[in-house]
Amino acid sequence: LKANNARSLWHPMTSPADSLSNAPTIVTEASGVRIRDVDGHEVIDGVGGLWNVNLGYSCQPVKDAISAQLDRLPYYSIFRGTSNDCVIELAEELRAFFEPDGLTRAFFTSGGSDSVETALRLARQYHKLRGQAGRVKFLSLKKGYHGTHMGGASVNGNANFRSNYEPLLPGCHHITAPYPYRNPFNETDPARLAQLILAQIEDEIAFQGADTIAAFIMEPILGAGGVIVPDASFMPGVEAICRRHGILLIADEVITAFGRTGAWSGSRLWGVKPDFMCTAKAITNGYFPFGAVMIAEAVAEVFESDASAKAAIGHGYTYSGHPVGAAAALACLAETRRLNVIENAAARGAQLFAGLKDLQTKYDVIGDVRGGHGLMLALELVADRTTRQPADKPVPGKVQQAAYEAGAMVRVSGPNIILSPSLVLSEADAQGILDALDAGFRAL
Ligand code: PMP
Repeated sequence: LKANNARSLWHPMTSPADSLSNAPTIVTEASGVRIRDVDGHEVIDGVGGLWNVNLGYSCQPVKDAISAQLDRLPYYSIFRGTSNDCVIELAEELRAFFEPDGLTRAFFTSGGSDSVETALRLARQYHKLRGQAGRVKFLSLKKGYHGTHMGGASVNGNANFRSNYEPLLPGCHHITAPYPYRNPFNETDPARLAQLILAQIEDEIAFQGADTIAAFIMEPILGAGGVIVPDASFMPGVEAICRRHGILLIADEVITAFGRTGAWSGSRLWGVKPDFMCTAKAITNGYFPFGAVMIAEAVAEVFESDASAKAAIGHGYTYSGHPVGAAAALACLAETRRLNVIENAAARGAQLFAGLKDLQTKYDVIGDVRGGHGLMLALELVADRTTRQPADKPVPGKVQQAAYEAGAMVRVSGPNIILSPSLVLSEADAQGILDALDAGFRAL
């Protein structure tokens, strides 16, 4: 397997040369919150797949629902003129979940990047339908991650994900991230930083012209950029600015929806009502590639009240509304509720956050500890705590490797070590992750 992996497989977000010289861990089995590799080594998965396996790897009701759906109706399209019963049931269920956030319609996709692309495209169409065809630009946050399609890549805040693929969409502008540990204002107070960035957004809108901007897209807590948690005033501030200028707000909740933050959604955590909410990942717990864009009632009305060809949605995927994905999602939503995983995410998140702060008192290499809202946490490693100079490149990987040998998989992203375990994590397994990380730092 190892030789064939090197010979014939390219890994996403990885340089081919790097994966030739650093053999990846080949996972062959998983159950509960544990994964086992090809060498028989079993560890706690501190990454929860890729922020998506919220319910763990042994979710029998989801497997049963998938199997029953495969027997009854494995596929039928929901393009014009047809629908399927399972996806209607899911749309109703999601409507019930997200009605408190003002979101009442669902557009189904095959994953997170598709969900982002859908929201960006529908945002432009919305403005065209309202006679504001000049609203085509997008604002987003530096360090934000929005998937890999051309639109999503254009609004991605990390230039590394953009530069090799330019020219991308014109008119995408990236605003300072609400990142108290590092920002051009040298402002460490999250609330004051939020105010400074909100003022910058107003300036950017004035500079661009509000009537040229279609939407502002942001993650309620920035995930892949290193678990950057904005002040509680930030997203409501962005929402107020968007409302004032007729700009749509797209909440990219591919990671944060369905309980990861200890709330049903990141928008609900911050008390914000977005126009579009992009979801994917945990909607099917990794059992099926699937996503949903939830759409606000007021946006839906603009499309639904226009009978002209302009209001036809010229966008969609063969697998939009896949009945097997819908069956998986319905079972995942039921399990999320039945197992009270959202409460557990908040409790285990608090436990891990406190434990990571303890590790910071022991190891100078830990510059910043981020989290505090459920099971999205990160450590940022530094060479020097005072100057905040980032740790040498190999350091996070060394900690990861030693932590793996000591019993837990964690994820490296730049100078950060990221934790996003399953929401069904037990107290003992949360401690197991902390113990493995402790061993990882000790080994440095
Ligand atoms: N948006 C966010 C916030 C994400 O974290 C991701 C994936 N990590 C995506 C979009 C893209 O999702 P996918 O990889 O399923 O296309």
